Amino acid sequence: MNELGKILKDKIVIDSHIHMGFLSSLNIPCASDNNIISLLKNYGVNKAIVSHHADLSTPYYGKELLFRSLEKFPDFLYGLLVFNPNFSNSSLESIKNNYQRKQIAGIKIHPFWHMCYPGDHKYEKFWDFVCENGIPVLTHTWNPNVANKGQKFADPFLFEDILNKWNGLKLIFAHAGGRGEYLYKVIDLMEKYPDLYVDFAGDIFEPGLLETYVGRVGSDRIFFGSDMPWIDVRYYLVNILSADIEDQDKENILGMNASRFFNIR
Ligand SMILES: [Zn+2]
Repeated sequence: MNELGKILKDKIVIDSHIHMGFLSSLNIPCASDNNIISLLKNYGVNKAIVSHHADLSTPYYGKELLFRSLEKFPDFLYGLLVFNPNFSNSSLESIKNNYQRKQIAGIKIHPFWHMCYPGDHKYEKFWDFVCENGIPVLTHTWNPNVANKGQKFADPFLFEDILNKWNGLKLIFAHAGGRGEYLYKVIDLMEKYPDLYVDFAGDIFEPGLLETYVGRVGSDRIFFGSDMPWIDVRYYLVNILSADIEDQDKENILGMNASRFFNIR
């Protein structure tokens, strides 16, 4: 076994943000389901939560592919159902029919991918439903002031209205605002909203970020998520293990938080 696998051997390690499936616009070598899972296991990850690329694009076929992947890895893999506001009624219907399935951990939304602001009326019934049923929602977030103008749909501050209106909503900001000063502005939101969580999945290489978050809001609302296979999982594991924070904080982030929050044992 490699060094990381050895260090993490007896720990709860849950990668709360991975992807699977073919993506026509992106070449991701070695990204078969089997390869992703065996890499994660090899580096000491015990469980993972996936949102399937196909589910981001096609509500019905995408869910079929997600369920097939979940069936292949019953003791390892959990799934997020994608809500697509562009098919708001049928997408919500299929979520209602499937959210109680075994291995479903919550919902994924991607305002940028679907080009729809989270405050759009197409999301309204969805927010009602997840709030009433206490279902966690992982949303893509990013700094809108970047070259890719589609990110304007995923400005973390657009969620303030949602958090004010739907009290108790369990929301996770994937990528914690993604770039530059937004990575730090999101901490202000976490201080204001106690049910707001983050992961730092993706190409976010920001020295000291973890220490700053733990120093200001503690370690209970931070999840380890990698964005595999877009990004190599090893960076995230090493980044957490080598951070200047307490061992208990590391264990919370590596997996204890996700285990409690998503009820994954
Ligand atoms: Zn992702």
